[in-house]
This record gives sequence, C-alpha cells and structure tokens, in this order.
Amino acid sequence: MKRKRILNLILLLVAALAVSACGGGSGGSGGEAGFIGIAMPTKSSERWVHDGNNMKAEFEKRGYKVDLQYAEDIVENQVSQIENMITKGVDVLVIAAIDGESLTNVLEKANSQGIKIISYDRLIRKTPHVSYYATFDNFKVGVLQGSYIEQALGLKEGKGPFNIELFAGSPDDNNAYFFFDGAMSVLQPYIDNGQLVVRSGQTDFDQVATLRWDGATAQARMDNLLSAYYTTERVDAVLSPYDGISIGVISSLKGVGYGSADKPMPVITGQDAELASIKSIIAGEQTSTIFKDTRELAKKAVEMAEAVLKGEEPEVNDTTTYDNGVKVVPSYLLEPVLVDKSNYKEVLIDSGYYTEDQLK
Ligand code: BGC
Repeated sequence: MKRKRILNLILLLVAALAVSACGGGSGGSGGEAGFIGIAMPTKSSERWVHDGNNMKAEFEKRGYKVDLQYAEDIVENQVSQIENMITKGVDVLVIAAIDGESLTNVLEKANSQGIKIISYDRLIRKTPHVSYYATFDNFKVGVLQGSYIEQALGLKEGKGPFNIELFAGSPDDNNAYFFFDGAMSVLQPYIDNGQLVVRSGQTDFDQVATLRWDGATAQARMDNLLSAYYTTERVDAVLSPYDGISIGVISSLKGVGYGSADKPMPVITGQDAELASIKSIIAGEQTSTIFKDTRELAKKAVEMAEAVLKGEEPEVNDTTTYDNGVKVVPSYLLEPVLVDKSNYKEVLIDSGYYTEDQLK
C-alpha cells in the first residue's frame, strides 16, 4: 500500500517535470504573455536593426519574452536559428526571410509543434503555414521610385532622350519583383517610346537583379556598365531599389568622375532612408529614397502575433495580392513615403525617426 503511494508520487513528479520541460503554450515558456522568436536577415542594413529592436521593445512592453536573432544573410544560419527557437519552445515566430523559399521544412516542423508564423516585410513562400503578413505596399515602393525619375527628368513633359540603367533587388526576395514591376509600370512606356534609353539593353529582372541586395555586387556591375557603354555617353538616371545598392552605384560613378560641375551625378533612387543615404541626399549625390516607418511595421507585426495567440483575427487590408505559391496570405500593407532633399526634415526628423545630430 505504502509502496504504491510512493510510486504514484514518483509518477506525478515525472509527469510534472515533463510538462514543464515541454514549455509550450502561452505563458509557459518565458514572459507572462508568451514567448516570441524573431528571425531577422542581417545587421548589415540599419533597417533590420531598427525592425528587430522596435519589435523586441514592443513585445516586451506587452509582457512577452523575446528571442531576437540575425543571420547575417546566410540562409543556413537563419534555418538553424529558427530550429533553435522551436527547440526553446517559442509560441510565435516572426520572420523576415533571407531566401523566401528556403523555410518550407523548418516551418513544417514549427507548425507541427503548434507554433504560429508571421511573415515580416518579406513574403515567406512555398508553405501553407504562414498565418499573416505585415509589410508595406511593395508595388507602390517601385511606383514611387519610377515616378521620381519620371518627374526629375521631365518625361511627362516629353523631354529626352535620356540614358538610364536599371538595378533590381535579390531574386530570392519576393519584394524585389514587386519593386521592379512597380518601377517599370512607370518607366517601360518611356523606354518603349525612346525617351529613355537603356544602352546596356539589360531590362529583364534576371539581368539586373542583385543577389542578397549586396552593394559591392551592384558597384561591380555599374563599373562594367560604365566601361562598356558610357565612355562617350553620359548616364542620366539609375533605378536603384535599395540604399545599399545606391551607395555602391555612387562609388562606381565617382570613380569615373561623376559628381563634378561638368559631370553631375545622374538621378539615383533608393529605399529605406538609411543614414548614409540621407547624408548622401543632403550632399547632392543620391537623389531620393523611400522611407518605410519600421516603428509602424513592428507595431503591426506585434498586433498580428498577439491576435493569433489569442485566437483572434488581426486587422488586414489586403487579401488578394500576396500569393506565396500555396495560398494567398492575408496581409496588412503600410504606406511607403518618398523622401528627397525637399522633405527629409519633415518626414525623418520631425517624426523623431532620426535626430538632426545623426545626419551631421
Ligand atoms: C525590404 C527593403 C530592403 C531590402 C534589402 C527588402 O525585402 O523590403 O526595405 O531595402 O529588402 O534589405
């Protein structure tokens, strides 16, 4: 009799230990409210650092425990970071993928453990397990970039012909196609009617893409374009999808003398309003960028994570655009804002995104 009571007690203890080791379920694995894994692509671009910090702060304010990881643009690192988060027992994963198509297996595993998945800024493709997508209107980002070139060159007024070269983002990032298509929706008619001339002839996405958004890769391509097609001709505009690429392109242009009174810089777009690019805009080198308020995006992603944990439906404003190859992912699209010399103070400083000192 007594032995049976002891045995029961031992069994109870073992069961209790097993439950606490599993750690699943909200509140069971860290913060009061739940445990969130945030997987970001790289610290080499400021925007992702802002994104990660903003989300971490917001989640923690709401009582969540957070594991925030950066994978330095190495796909395998990101996969193993997510695997670790699954092992640690997170309740929700918020992921900005490096390669949007490489997470199918790891997310299968996450889903089998009841973990919910939010796609952050970049669409995760080829998996049914993404619940929601928080991002910006990515097509509009491209339209803003293309329209800026249209306006700066006076294309609507019939001016031209002008020489332009095109750059696109990383082919493994779904956003890159949206940016390029948005920009080309504005620029293509001017290429067709001859007001814009692409002397390299490189106008397909595959020809102009930049793996991993790498500035050095873009710089090398620009060097080649300049020496092959612009020894006697001048380049008047460069479509650049991202500030890091713009900085690479500008270095290349400076290398052959652009940026002087008799050889002014072409019109050069960008994206993310990174500090180096805002300084470059103030200095009259880069011409424009696109500001995407990462504070707002972080807030949206946190709201989505909180809603899925509570079994509620978060607010979305797009249920048709983002097909990830398996399903259309319900999305919330925020508004991107064009920034140039004329409005950077109002958009970036008055809103508290940067201080005046940071731009000196
Ligand atoms: C983001 C951009 C960023 C780019 C490079 C894209 O997925 O939407 O904001 O410029 O990645 O990091």
